[in-house]
Amino acid sequence: MKESKHKKYSTKEIKSNLKIQFEMKTVKTIMGVLVLSLILTTVSCKGGAKAESSTQTEQQEMDEYTSAYVCPMHCEGSGSATEGSCPKCGMTYVKNEDHNANGHKH
Ligand SMILES: [Zn+2]
Ligand SMILES: [Zn+2]
Repeated sequence: MKESKHKKYSTKEIKSNLKIQFEMKTVKTIMGVLVLSLILTTVSCKGGAKAESSTQTEQQEMDEYTSAYVCPMHCEGSGSATEGSCPKCGMTYVKNEDHNANGHKH
């Protein structure tokens, strides 16, 4: 009685082992797909970071509009946190507050 029971159990065990092996193959395939998608995500993330840095450059280019002191003509590369004159046209910087108070009638 005991032996026959054991035999039955071992057959079941072999079947479940085969099932596990099959599942492991599936898991490996899924893992491979996951790793691939992870790499793709990392690459696309790097692309996103590049887009972000270009946005930062655009913000720096906006200094001629957003600095504390700006050139009345908003020349490229002008604008400073302190008083001075525009390196492009030589005009004296105006306080951004006063300039904006006058309105933008360029
Ligand atoms: Zn200027
Ligand atoms: Zn202006």
